[in-house]
Amino acid sequence: MTEIRCKWCEATLPILADLDRALRDQVVDLVRHGSTAEAFGALARETGLTLKTAKAVTLHITRERGTCHRWPCKAKLETGRLDCPVCKGINFDW
Ligand SMILES: [Zn+2]
Ligand SMILES: [Zn+2]
Repeated sequence: MTEIRCKWCEATLPILADLDRALRDQVVDLVRHGSTAEAFGALARETGLTLKTAKAVTLHITRERGTCHRWPCKAKLETGRLDCPVCKGINFDW
């Protein structure tokens, strides 16, 4: 599994490139409109990631598409890149 390290929280994050599309949409929906706890619970259950890792992943999902999740950065992300052009934090813009 390819991993990437976030320079801000020092979490090592798996890049879930072939994550099931429906699951990904469900997790994103929970992060943006529901509960983060439910989001990482579902992610851990379906992928076999530890809760700790699943939680770290969900914390790096963009709250608003195309926008860095780190507050107060909120920079516009570049397509195809995981690190924010401004703060260099990792973003999963699913
Ligand atoms: Zn981070
Ligand atoms: Zn940023």
